[in-house]
Amino acid sequence: MHHLRFRQVHLDFHTSPIIPGIGQSFNKEEWQETLKKGHVNSITLFAKCHHGWHYHLTKVGRMHPNLGFDLLREQFDACKELDINVPIYLSAGLDDAMLDEHPEWQNVFVDSRNLSASVSSPLHSGFHHVCFNSPYTDYLVRQIRETLTLFPNCNGIFLDIISQPDCCCVHCMKVMRDHGWNPLNADDRRKCMNYALERYYQMTTNCVTSFNPDMPIFHNSGHVTPGRRDLLSKYFSHLELESLPTGGWGYDHFPLSAKYVHTLDFDFLGMTGKFHTTWGEFGGFKHPNALRYECDAMLAYGAKCSIGDQLHPSGKLDESTYELIGEAYADVEKKEAWCDNVKNVAEIGLLIAEGVNDDHPRNCPGDVGAGRILLEGHFLFDVIDAEADFSKYRLLILPNNVKIDSTLRNRLASYVAAGGKLLLSGSSGLDANGKFLFDVGAECEGLSPFRPDYACLNQAIGPDCVHTPMVMYLPSTRIKVTDGIKLGDVYDPYFNRTDHQHFCSHQHTPYRPTPSGYAAAVRKGNIMYLAHPVFSIYYGWGSVPMAEYARKAIRYLLGEPEIITNLPSTARLTLMEQPEEHRYVLHLLYASTVNRGSGGNIEGVQTRGSIEVIEDLLPLHDVKVDIRPRREIKKVTLAPEGTGVLFNVDSSGRLNFKLERFTCHQMVVLEY
Ligand SMILES: [Zn+2]
Repeated sequence: MHHLRFRQVHLDFHTSPIIPGIGQSFNKEEWQETLKKGHVNSITLFAKCHHGWHYHLTKVGRMHPNLGFDLLREQFDACKELDINVPIYLSAGLDDAMLDEHPEWQNVFVDSRNLSASVSSPLHSGFHHVCFNSPYTDYLVRQIRETLTLFPNCNGIFLDIISQPDCCCVHCMKVMRDHGWNPLNADDRRKCMNYALERYYQMTTNCVTSFNPDMPIFHNSGHVTPGRRDLLSKYFSHLELESLPTGGWGYDHFPLSAKYVHTLDFDFLGMTGKFHTTWGEFGGFKHPNALRYECDAMLAYGAKCSIGDQLHPSGKLDESTYELIGEAYADVEKKEAWCDNVKNVAEIGLLIAEGVNDDHPRNCPGDVGAGRILLEGHFLFDVIDAEADFSKYRLLILPNNVKIDSTLRNRLASYVAAGGKLLLSGSSGLDANGKFLFDVGAECEGLSPFRPDYACLNQAIGPDCVHTPMVMYLPSTRIKVTDGIKLGDVYDPYFNRTDHQHFCSHQHTPYRPTPSGYAAAVRKGNIMYLAHPVFSIYYGWGSVPMAEYARKAIRYLLGEPEIITNLPSTARLTLMEQPEEHRYVLHLLYASTVNRGSGGNIEGVQTRGSIEVIEDLLPLHDVKVDIRPRREIKKVTLAPEGTGVLFNVDSSGRLNFKLERFTCHQMVVLEY
């Protein structure tokens, strides 16, 4: 397994050919001092950018027209003198310089409205996508080979923008013709797309590993797709989770991605940005507290850290940026010893639709909603795919939308037979005909015609603050309890709000005074089924009572959780094990994000919409933690401080302690 360093920078350098004086302000001593100030010990530098220009002397590619010397060589040697690692970046999926010479290597989209991910018209500015079925891929391989030959002691090859759209260029048309695929058929075009991607992965990875089998390689698509173990195991040496919380990914993408990646055999890093918004924002900064929180979160979720920056065309690193990075990385440096070679401790497996369904739907509302519920409820969990080892978990949650084939059904049935617990909701657990795949103690009569309807839940699973029918914004599955335990009733509305005759008041129609006869939730033994897609509802509407319902339902089925805490829902908690050090490291993490900025047109300029920012780090007081440790704990201390923590162990073996206060991030070490 490739072992990564903790304090990395991903230094973007996509530079227009009409900007003069590239690299003219590069100064070796200043470069070195700035990186030292930033506590950086690895920096990804550019061989070739999205514009298609190289930043070193090249016989294969095209050097930036306004660069007069070997900039990458100077940057590279300056870093190596300080023992700073240098992985090298090449833009793979975007290359405007080469597409100027070979326009026939560009993707031709079926839908002409989508000319490219970043260009909506030939007249608009933005990068252009290459087709991996075209001879471009051979050109890319020659570029990679030259880079490796020039920089054989680089610390990896980072290839970016690995995607292939629904392409009908001449090369794809030939591939389809040769394989007997019909370009008019969307499934056949998908085959052609996968063929191009496989071609890309094989050719580039072979190039790197045949040069040096130990050379790290990473292919970036902005997201690691759960369930694609076939690709990950064959073509990746480690993983980099690009996830800029204010750049469109949000603050919950990284934790959930990390919790999936943790179940695989990879070292990985989280990648945020120093920008207020996202990549390419020259002069954009986030508050030091935000970067500190984001780096602490990477440590808490078992990742190494990477911060995205973009180098000015002059080649001079930005002073304020490296002060900002230095503040965060000085803190990381003190904490590394407790964060290396860690394993996530989990009692719940969240089996997501993205990791199971063939089309790997990204941002599935049920997946993300359930992830949020588990993060906010401080549960110990992994995000898993259909191939995961289920026996590690006391409870599996299948949020809405998980399609269960016969192999998965049998695996889940064996898991339950061996004592595992299963929480199903919405369409998860139903077959294609809408019938239950498991004995949940109820019969299914299909989807309710009403939207919304209402649930009146038993106190075992209902929110403490609501005892009356609660609106459920998405339709329920109609279930009649047979020999299960009914945990709540569905109330139907008088009618759906549809036309000028069928409406009542400002929103949806009120509930009828008597229950519909259908159950809102049922449990039989170790299986529980929630009739509403509760996790999708929470994702979409964010109602707090809905979160409480979901959390209570999970606790009701799980039994006593491994960790109980009084942390607020905005705080996060993870438990990592460092087996070689004979210790657990509990991470407590807290910052509140707030939406700032507005959507729309401000004085004639379109904004990016409101952005979640972190400015203040407020301390949390009297934090209680009650844990059922898997091993006998000898000593509890704070890290990195080393201060001892008084703790009690009760007769059932649960250990508890209280922290007077912490700010942003606290590690608590439990030695065994
Ligand atoms: Zn093509």
